[in-house]
Amino acid sequence: MAEITLSHIVKRYADGFPAVNDVNLDIRDGEFVILVGPSGCGKSTLLRMVVGLEDITEGELRIDGEVVNDRSPRDRDLAMVFQSYALYPHLTVAENIAFPLRLAKGKYSEADIRRRVEDAAAMLELREHLDRKPGNLSGGQRQRVAMGRAIVRDAKAFLFDEPLSNLDAKLRGQMRTEISRMQRRLGTTTIYVTHDQTEAMTLGDRVAVLKKGRLQQFASPQELYEQPVNLFVAGFIGSPPMNFLPVTYSAGALESPFGRFALPEAKAAKLTAHEGKVLIAGIRPEAFSDLSLVEESRRDHGAVLTAEVDVVEWLGNEVYVYLPFSASDEIRASLDQLDRDLDGEGMRTQMIATLSGASRVREGEQAQLWFDPARVMVFDPSTGENLT
Ligand code: ATP
Repeated sequence: MAEITLSHIVKRYADGFPAVNDVNLDIRDGEFVILVGPSGCGKSTLLRMVVGLEDITEGELRIDGEVVNDRSPRDRDLAMVFQSYALYPHLTVAENIAFPLRLAKGKYSEADIRRRVEDAAAMLELREHLDRKPGNLSGGQRQRVAMGRAIVRDAKAFLFDEPLSNLDAKLRGQMRTEISRMQRRLGTTTIYVTHDQTEAMTLGDRVAVLKKGRLQQFASPQELYEQPVNLFVAGFIGSPPMNFLPVTYSAGALESPFGRFALPEAKAAKLTAHEGKVLIAGIRPEAFSDLSLVEESRRDHGAVLTAEVDVVEWLGNEVYVYLPFSASDEIRASLDQLDRDLDGEGMRTQMIATLSGASRVREGEQAQLWFDPARVMVFDPSTGENLT
């Protein structure tokens, strides 16, 4: 059993600025939880407080109901895997993996150590490499040794700090699958820090999204995708990112830079207090289809936006279509701020539609984009709150 509970956790470094600000998380036994957010959001600080490498300024950390704020890292019994792997270069793979067992002097017999190292090596496909030194291993193999060192003892939980960021994209994808398989097999509570939303979405049972030290939302990947609480979470989750369009709400419909469309009644009902106001509509790129490829029977159930195509990127099975629009200074300022929060590229005044590779839209021509208005979200531009 290892439940990890964070109650009103605050971290202030010497400058007094809260790097982590009043975070509450209730991590269940066996759960795989991801801490994600842009650089500087406080995710590493949070993980380091859980493992005991950083003091907690305020709040309570409980492991299985017991407050552990003042316990040393060793007494918390958590296994951490670092981004840098932190392997001992002069020890073999087998000795590196056995290291935490030898550290617990006398707790494990020689036979037990041998068996545990072999089991860990088998699970991580390192058996042939047990006698080699880390310097003679590939990046992926070193990463596996670091994981072997974490799983070799019965730690209460695994803590990962960006473990895949030193690997190339292909290996990262492969290791992601391996970590997921290993965690399901062992059923050990896991907290995993990353700034990569794809890792977050594919690995996590639940994902905690952080911005500037504050928890924005703690939910399943599906819920984050379908019901983000605010613009920040909506813009952080999904690739390519969600489109944000300036819109005016009136009489159950939204006036957008690409035309007017009606909202489903349930969504419109939530916007009655915003009649006549400028709001931000969020539509995911993959919500769009090329109207000419939509079956007749479905066309009436959706809405259509018309826009001039600036750029088309063909990727084989799909195409990315870029459609610029103009926005008022006020909306532009709000979108630019959002972009800075998200560490973005400052390209918010164009819409992206991800269409089927069979689409024949052309640069410089008008595209007719079909979508289901039930997939549209509407945000308050001043607070960022998802109103729908
Ligand atoms: P990254 O992905 O870049 O590592 P992060 O989300 O993990 O970012 P943290 O490393 O936890 O963020 O840092 C959160 C904030 O605390 C940042 O503003 C950072 O500058 C600050 N910070 C981190 N460590 C210290 C420290 N030892 N002393 C003072 N400030 C610190």
